[in-house]
Amino acid sequence: MSIAQNIAKIREEIAQAARDAGRDPKEITLVGASKMNDAAACREAIAAGIDVLGENRVQEMQQKLSQNAYDGVPLHFIGHLQRNKVKQVVGYVDLIQSAGSLELLSEIDKCAAKKELVQDVLLEVNIGEEEAKSGFLPGDLFQAAQAAKELPHVRVRGLMAIPPVESEAHGSIPFFEKMYRFYVDINEKLYNNEFVYLSMGMSGDFADAIRCGANMVRVGTAIFGARNYGQTN
Ligand SMILES: *Cc1c(COP(=O)(O)O)cnc(C)c1O
Repeated sequence: MSIAQNIAKIREEIAQAARDAGRDPKEITLVGASKMNDAAACREAIAAGIDVLGENRVQEMQQKLSQNAYDGVPLHFIGHLQRNKVKQVVGYVDLIQSAGSLELLSEIDKCAAKKELVQDVLLEVNIGEEEAKSGFLPGDLFQAAQAAKELPHVRVRGLMAIPPVESEAHGSIPFFEKMYRFYVDINEKLYNNEFVYLSMGMSGDFADAIRCGANMVRVGTAIFGARNYGQTN
């Protein structure tokens, strides 16, 4: 299957899930997670109508930017972001989906101030409360969302999560449901209903995520095929 065929199939599944949830398929933004795929693959996805491309690694993103890999679509940063690499991301992307600590938010704010811009971000939530994962713990989220409002060069546009890897089919649903409740609650109580994105769901579970309220899904493997982690570049 080609990238275009994969995207067409995913669009159908997205549309079905949206209709199941009584929502308009047009509300759902499809982000192609293009890590470890080259500029040609990115361009193929853009030609096939992907809404957004998302990258995980700063160096790879900068390299592909210099190759004009993303021309024609918004670019998001979706991976773990180290503070010392913030300046290579702020202003280069339309949205940083992975703002998962107050330290990182503050660094993004500082850097955006220097560049005289306002950086859109999502707050990443460690919804499974996993040791190894970054993101705000559910118990800290409300306060973090409040603190983020005070940063003049950061604009929070919603929430993002990567739930724990589940062995059972539909195992992510309880996490998606929790995320939806946080999204609605924080949006209403703190953000005057100005949130626009609830980003959750990947290749294996994007339909479940949409049924639980996601309006942005990040899909890699199902679009680009399996990633070859053995390759060196
Ligand atoms: C790679 C990645 C995805 C997509 O994962 P697939 O399982 O390949 O669809 C989504 N979100 C983030 C943050 C990723 O790094």
